[in-house]
Amino acid sequence: MVSARIFVQGIVQGVGFRPTVYRLAKNMKLTGYVRNLGNIVEIVLNGEKKEIKKFVKELNHKKPPISKISSLKLDWLENSSPSYTDFKILESSTNFSGSSVIPADVAICNACLTEIKSPKNRRYDYPFTACTDCGPRFTVIKSIPYDRERTSMEEFPLCPSCQIEYTDPEDRRYHAEATCCPICGPSVYLYKNKRLELENPLKEAVNLLDDGKILAMKGIGGTHLVCSVEQEKVVEKLRKRLGRFNQPFACMCPDVDTVKTFAEVSSLEEKTLTSRRRPVVVLKKSDDYFLAPSVAPDLHNIGIMLPYSGLHYVLFHYSAAPAYVMTSAIPSRFFIIS
Ligand SMILES: [Zn+2]
Ligand SMILES: [Zn+2]
Repeated sequence: MVSARIFVQGIVQGVGFRPTVYRLAKNMKLTGYVRNLGNIVEIVLNGEKKEIKKFVKELNHKKPPISKISSLKLDWLENSSPSYTDFKILESSTNFSGSSVIPADVAICNACLTEIKSPKNRRYDYPFTACTDCGPRFTVIKSIPYDRERTSMEEFPLCPSCQIEYTDPEDRRYHAEATCCPICGPSVYLYKNKRLELENPLKEAVNLLDDGKILAMKGIGGTHLVCSVEQEKVVEKLRKRLGRFNQPFACMCPDVDTVKTFAEVSSLEEKTLTSRRRPVVVLKKSDDYFLAPSVAPDLHNIGIMLPYSGLHYVLFHYSAAPAYVMTSAIPSRFFIIS
C-alpha cells in the first residue's frame, strides 16, 4: 500500500469535479480524501500503486463534461502511508494559491429540464433549477475555493430536501453549489411601473409581451430587453429607445423546430445552437421568414439563440410566440454622446 498526493489545475472547481473523484475512488476502493485547495483540487489516495495509476487514467476519461484538466501533478508519498479507512470530501482550504480558471455559466441540462417540465416534480416550473452539470458558475462565484458560502447562493440556505440531495454521494446534486428549489431558492418577481405584481410573474410577463410591452428581464448572468418579434411598432420603439437604428437584434427561440419555420439551419448550426454554451448563431433567413422587418433590417441573416436557463424555458412554457427579441440593454455610443 502506498499514498499519493495529486494536484489538479484547470477548470476543476464548480464543475462537479470533487463528486466525480469521490465516486471513482469509492468504486476503486481507494481511501483518502479530495478537497478544494485555494483554486486547485487536492486528492490524496491510499491504495495499491497500480490502482492509483489506474485512477489517474480513469479520472482523465470520466472527468465531468464541463471540466478541463490543464495540469495534473502526482507525488508518491512512499515513506508516509497514512491509513485512511474511507474516502471523503473534506472542507475546502483557502491556504493555497495556484492558477485556476473559473468556469462559465452552463445551460440547463436535460435532466434538470425534464424536472421543470414534470408537473409532479418538486421543481416543476422552477426557473432556477440546477445541478452539478449545469447552471450558473461565473455569475455566482464571489471567491474561490468554489463552495456555496463563497457564492451569491449563500443567501439561500438549503431546505431539508435539498440538503439530502447535496449530501448524498449518489445524487446528481451532491455538492452542487448552486442547487436550490422553490422552497429555499430565489424567486421571480415582476415589477410593472415600479409596482410588484403578485400573480404568476412569468405568465404575466408573457401577457405583457403579447400586449406589445418591452420588458427588462434580469436573468442569471445579466439583463435582456425583451419584446415581441412580430410587432413591428414595438421593435421600432425599442430601437428608438436604444438609439440602435440598424444593428440587428438577437432573438431567442423556444426550440430548433421553431427556428426552422423562419431560418435555414444546417446540422452544424443545429449542433452549435443546442450546445451547452448556447451561443447566438447567425442563420440565413429562409423564404418563409416572417419576423418584423426591424428585427434584423436589410440583412439576409438573423442572430438566434435557444433558451439557456430554466427562466427562459418557463417563460416559453406560457408563451405561443415563435421567438422574442432578447438584446442587451447597452445603448449605442452615438446615442450616449447625443
Ligand atoms: Zn442540471
Ligand atoms: Zn430546497
